[in-house]
Formats: sequence, structure tokens, C-alpha cells
Amino acid sequence: MFAGKEAVVGDLHGFAKELNKLVAKPVEEVFFVGDMTGSVELNKLKTLFNQVHDSVNKAEKLNALSRLKKLESDLLGEKMKPMGEREKDSEMSKLLEYKRHSLYMGGLPQDVKDNLVIGVKQELDKLIEWNIKVSSLGTRVYMITGNWDEYLPFDFEVKKRSVDIVKYLRGGGVNIYDNYGIIEEEKKIVLMAPYGVVNDGLVNQNILNKINLEKSRGSRVMMITHVPPNMRIHEENNHRKTSSEMEEQSAAANKVLFQVKPDELVYGHVHTRLENDNFVSYRDTEINMVYCAYREIKLRV
Ligand SMILES: [Zn+2]
Repeated sequence: MFAGKEAVVGDLHGFAKELNKLVAKPVEEVFFVGDMTGSVELNKLKTLFNQVHDSVNKAEKLNALSRLKKLESDLLGEKMKPMGEREKDSEMSKLLEYKRHSLYMGGLPQDVKDNLVIGVKQELDKLIEWNIKVSSLGTRVYMITGNWDEYLPFDFEVKKRSVDIVKYLRGGGVNIYDNYGIIEEEKKIVLMAPYGVVNDGLVNQNILNKINLEKSRGSRVMMITHVPPNMRIHEENNHRKTSSEMEEQSAAANKVLFQVKPDELVYGHVHTRLENDNFVSYRDTEINMVYCAYREIKLRV
């Protein structure tokens, strides 16, 4: 029993079975940095879309394209028709016109989206089951929403919800924050700062007052959020160029960070691992930044 210890969990994107490691080693508290939502198929579509866009080699691009088309057919329950050279080229240029994977996924046939939703719900059900199991062992579990928990990638551009994930998880008894929330503990206060509200760059004055009061009483302030407030740290490891959208989100997270001034910030969203991934000092401040990579589980003392 890992009494007195906490764990942080990076973007799961489905893959709830990863959490079985935590059932074997129960901890007092588990914090999720968002993006619990996903499925094998949804993640594959995103990866293949990015490969088509990012590969410099034409053969690699075409290979990713045909795998993407095969997956689309599978999701439709159809057999993939072989593509001729002309067809491949036209499918390729169609795909390259989509600037982001969310735009591409938004354009998928409804039957494909419906199938994807089924896969997503299956993973959410596993998460719910896991939560029930560890909660019965006395572990407290807290989650915040990431971008995929607020809108599935194919819902993101039109801002509608094929499935209300927050409602779905709450219905299963999961403690998930889609707005700021404070968890008070002995000599410790945790600010739960989910994706959407942080993206607006604002923190409620009541929340700030409460945090400052607890600081003056000697409490350690921990902030859990989704998007990194500083992309520079990640750019060397991350082979993708930071998009302007990401820069904006990062700037908003930074704005919130400097209003709150926590002792420690835990975040995820960027999937690639950092070489030096434990504590990152930030500019000349005392804030420790703890990055939790894709599906990573960090046990903390
Ligand atoms: Zn994310």
C-alpha cells in the first residue's frame, strides 16, 4: 500500500487498461490532467492524418493515406475498394486541404462518427469501472477536462456534442471538473483548472482570494491543468511545429498561472516525453512544473 502518496496521470485517450497498474498499487489520491477520452480508432485516425501531413517522403505519405482509407472503410463496415493512381492523388489533395485533424474528422460520414462514439464510450466505461474499484479501496480520484473531454475531435469545430463526456463520466460516479474547483487538504490546496476555462485566461476573484488566504496560512498550492503554459520546453522533443492555436492556448494558460502563482503546476496535453521530465524551473519563479506525458503515470511522495 502506497499510503500518503499521490499519482498523476497523463492524457490517456482511451487505454483505460493502463490504469490497472494503479489498482495493484493503491495511492491516496489520483489526479488526471485531462484528455481521458479516446479510443484506438480515434487515436489512429489522428496519427495517420498527421503522418499524411508531416511525412516528407511521398511513399510514406501514400502509405499513411491508404491505411487511413482502410480504417475509414472498416469503420463503415465496408470492404476497401482498391484505389488507382489518379484516385490516390485526388484523395491525397483532399486530405491535405484539411488544416487540422478536427476539420478532417468533422467531415467524416455520420456512420463513421457513430461507430467512433461507440468505441469512445467503451473506453469511458472502463474508466468508470476502474474509478469504482479504486474508490472502494479508499483512493480519491480527481479529473479535469482536456480538449477531447469537452469536444470529441469531430465535434470540435462545430461545438456540438455527439456525447456529453462530462455528463457521461459523472453519471458513472467520476469526479470530473469542467470549471475551476478547489480541493482543500491539510497544508495543501489544489486548484483544478480544466481546459475550456483556462483557455479564456480568466480566474474568478473568489478563487484567487481563497488561494491567497490559504497561502498566507502556509498551505502548498498545487494547480492541475491541461495545456502547457510554456511550449518552448517541449519544442525540442516535439517534432511538430507549435501551431498558432496552440500558442494562444499556451499564452492563456500562462496568464492563469501567473494570477494563481502555485508552488507546483501539473499538466499534460503534449504527448512526447521530455528527457528531463521531473521538475522544470520556470523563468525566475519558484513554480515547479511537472509534465505528465501521454499515458504516463507518475507516482509522487
Ligand atoms: Zn489535449
